[in-house]
Amino acid sequence: MKILKFGGTSVANAENIKRVLEIVNQKSEQDQLVVVVSALSKVTDLLQSAAAKAASNDESYKDIVAEIEKKHLDTLKALIPVSEQSSLLSHVKRIINHLETLLDGCFLLGELSNRTADTILSFGELLSSYIIAEALKQTNKNSGYKDSRELIKTNNHFGKAAVNFEVTNQLIREYFAANDSQVVIMPGFIASSLDGIITTLGRGGSDYSAAILAGALDAKVLEIWTDVNGMYTANPKIVKQAQPIATISYQEAMELSHFGAKVLYPPTIQPVLRKNIPIVIKNTFEPESAGTYISNQVSSKDTIVKGISHIDNISLITLEGPGMIGVSGSSKRLFEVLSNESINVIFITQASSEHSICIGILNSDAENAEQAINGAFEVEITQNKVDPCVVEKNLCIIALVGENMKNHQGLSGRMFSTLGKNNVNIRAIAQGASERNISVVINERDVKKALNTLHENFFEENTKQLNLFVMGVGNVGEKFIEQIHNQRKFLKENLKINVRVIALSNSRKMVFDEDGISLKEWQAALENGETANKDTFIARAKDLNLRNSIFVDITANASVSETYEEFLKQSIAVVTCNKIACSSEYDNYKKLKNLSRQFNAPFLFETNVGAGLPIIDTVKNLIASGDKVHKIQAVLSGSLNFIFNNFDENNSFHDVVKEAGVQGFTEPDPKIDLSGIDVARKILILIRESGYEMDIDAIANESFMPAESLATTNNEDFFASLTKHAPHFKAIYDEALSKDSRLKYVAQFENGKASVGLQFIPKDHPFYNLEGKDNIVLFYTDRYVDQPLLIKGAGAGAAVTASGIFADVIRIGNV
Ligand code: ADP
Ligand code: ASP
Ligand code: MG
Repeated sequence: MKILKFGGTSVANAENIKRVLEIVNQKSEQDQLVVVVSALSKVTDLLQSAAAKAASNDESYKDIVAEIEKKHLDTLKALIPVSEQSSLLSHVKRIINHLETLLDGCFLLGELSNRTADTILSFGELLSSYIIAEALKQTNKNSGYKDSRELIKTNNHFGKAAVNFEVTNQLIREYFAANDSQVVIMPGFIASSLDGIITTLGRGGSDYSAAILAGALDAKVLEIWTDVNGMYTANPKIVKQAQPIATISYQEAMELSHFGAKVLYPPTIQPVLRKNIPIVIKNTFEPESAGTYISNQVSSKDTIVKGISHIDNISLITLEGPGMIGVSGSSKRLFEVLSNESINVIFITQASSEHSICIGILNSDAENAEQAINGAFEVEITQNKVDPCVVEKNLCIIALVGENMKNHQGLSGRMFSTLGKNNVNIRAIAQGASERNISVVINERDVKKALNTLHENFFEENTKQLNLFVMGVGNVGEKFIEQIHNQRKFLKENLKINVRVIALSNSRKMVFDEDGISLKEWQAALENGETANKDTFIARAKDLNLRNSIFVDITANASVSETYEEFLKQSIAVVTCNKIACSSEYDNYKKLKNLSRQFNAPFLFETNVGAGLPIIDTVKNLIASGDKVHKIQAVLSGSLNFIFNNFDENNSFHDVVKEAGVQGFTEPDPKIDLSGIDVARKILILIRESGYEMDIDAIANESFMPAESLATTNNEDFFASLTKHAPHFKAIYDEALSKDSRLKYVAQFENGKASVGLQFIPKDHPFYNLEGKDNIVLFYTDRYVDQPLLIKGAGAGAAVTASGIFADVIRIGNV
């Protein structure tokens, strides 16, 4: 004998029921079967809401009844030949009429008792099992039907009745001893009290009905057919990377289901565990996949953590006060009062000082519990020995479960540090005495992030997912996306980093995709996106609350640089090639650095100086290892270098500057380069990263540009002024020629003073041969005294800048 249970989705409509019948017919060739079915998907919820509406005098319960009726009639019509429909349709209509009469009663009385609620909820399974049994009869002549209410007997704790196993087992055995149908269909979830009143076994209880039958009949196996490929390492609807667990022990499965793995109703395991009957969880929609096998076997080869589960809608109640210390019986009184109120305690921790005790219960029980506890401790509260209890709502419990966890140290540390790195605040911690689970209470808004980051850490070979929010898709941005696209596979395979672009924005449009934007077709996605809005962009990144989020600023925009603070405060890392923030007032630079530390969110800006060259990273490493920078000499403007390397007697200054722009070596506003501002910002950032406090106006900047050119307000006027002042530029060039030197725009720092400006560089100087758009930096430090540390290479251009940004992103991935 095998017991099969099909859940709500499996019997959601005629099409699904046909699949179920196929599975049943196939299985019944080998074994005698009892098939337990749930209500059609969502029907129990509909019944619950119809009852609540009727009891609160809201007539729309009638619409719900109409919806329920249509659903069942449609299903029936699609399963049964027309010639045989009429009597069956009348029967379904009669059941629906009965339901409506009950609801009318609730409406008229304005009342709904738990007992009536159970009767109303029972209609879901009554209807589904009737239709399925009739449909099966069409193809399987040796099939029958039995009403579970006649076999499963309970007390009358309506809503979640307790089974009387003695009576139930006997009734089940007697019935099946006398029944020789090859298949018997039965409704799940419903039962009756010894005096014949309808009861239910609790929401999700059809699993339990099937287990009760399996236990009573010593079944070979209990198969739970549902809509996923078994019990997963985490809820697959929330954690996309979750995998089905092949084998798992009863205890582990019980622990996971108790902590929220809805795929199995927790009490289900009890009746089969005693008899050692295995449970197999299978997918109705992929019957060939193996599913999960639950038994008493534990293999030491199993992964340490078997699964992660969670329960939403939790409230934490803390009872605290000096009167709790050493007074035996405080906890007993607390639990007694909760038990009297039928409040289920899901989570308990007590500090070893016994000064406080903390319990987790469902949000829906919180008010009731608060009142009851404060009432029970009224005397102590008035004597100030105990404080009134504190209730925190909207929390969630997350549990790591595994039989082998007890043999490993450091798991809780790993769990807490993983959550801490993602700024998930832990409100309370509990470890079961069996050491089979560690559970923590966190804020509900962090659930998805917490589950995913824990799953990544414990199950995914340490693959780290980075979620990027990219602003700015000009020359550099475009290259950056292209580079990620080309490199994704390599990063995944070799560095175990999975880079996804969640959001893209330019100044006009923005687009979001929680599953990652296709990097092949990102342009189209962006064009079809919504109107760009910085505030919405930030709000969305916050709300998505994804692990390892990184904001990437590829603009040169001051207002974008003002958003970093917001991101860092959400523990969202910031990677930027925009120099404005790091060269703004010292206090702002310092604040961002501190926020980064405080919120554990990297703030990286390698490309602020020398594009992709590893300059800032080098300074950081020097300082971190105890070196001290005394002097910096550098050519930091790829654009100015390009301009002065190309400017000679054969061309005009105007044309060279234009060409530099066309090739993408200047800022959109070339004045920023030519005025020396850009270079001043860069040396300022190097000085700050070297550990000195300085502001931009402390940097001497004697410009070689005519004042008139710098005063222009648009590019057209600016270029016109370059033509007008051609003789000025020619004179500078001639002077360099006469001195046998080359023109370089040099930034310097020494003895606490900094300057930028055009210099005549003689032949023997390391800057003399600097080609094209190259940058060079010389660091003189405690360790590099005579021969400076020299970094040289291409310091401008979209591709190298993009790769510098990319390198910062990878640095975060490698943390
Ligand atoms: P049924 O109606 O078949 O009884 P349920 O909705 O009760 O199905 O249970 C199946 C659902 O349980 C899945 O669709 C999934 O969303 C949820 N679930 C939660 N945690 C897990 C888990 N660890 N493994 C598998 N499913 C899970
Ligand atoms: N139909 C019931 C519910 O939705 C029982 C079940 O599906 O297991 O709770
Ligand atoms: Mg279920």
